[in-house]
Amino acid sequence: MVTGELVSGSGYARSMSSESTIFEQIVAREIPADIVFENDHIIAITDIAPQAPLHLLVIPKTSAYRNVGELAAADPALLAEMVATAVQLAADRASGEFRLVFNTGASAGQTVFHVHAHVLGGTLLKGTLAQH
Ligand code: 5GP
Repeated sequence: MVTGELVSGSGYARSMSSESTIFEQIVAREIPADIVFENDHIIAITDIAPQAPLHLLVIPKTSAYRNVGELAAADPALLAEMVATAVQLAADRASGEFRLVFNTGASAGQTVFHVHAHVLGGTLLKGTLAQH
């Protein structure tokens, strides 16, 4: 077990960081990402394994919500801001028409348990989203 008493300063920070999701690490700039939009509440990045000609991820900066249901119940304004961000990005970077996907639960394909929206523009390529 790791505590502040047993492991000092940066060691403790590293331990905490290793337990965070990949998106928390991207928000904290601990790992790089292609950031296409950012404000105080939201970051949007290109997906590392695109499944459509446009494949962005819109991610709230807070790690408080694991999925869209939790977010909708607790902070509907933040969910609406995510949708507005998707609309704007799809207008700027594609035709304005897009799919908005929130995988919810491992059996539905969710792999990162920090709520995020997939913004997909154009024909879906072969991949987990196309198979569902
Ligand atoms: P989920 O499967 O949880 O709905 O979506 C997670 C998404 O995050 C996947 O589409 C996956 O390709 C993407 N992803 C995983 N790790 C990284 C990463 O390090 N950088 C970026 N940009 N995307 C990632």
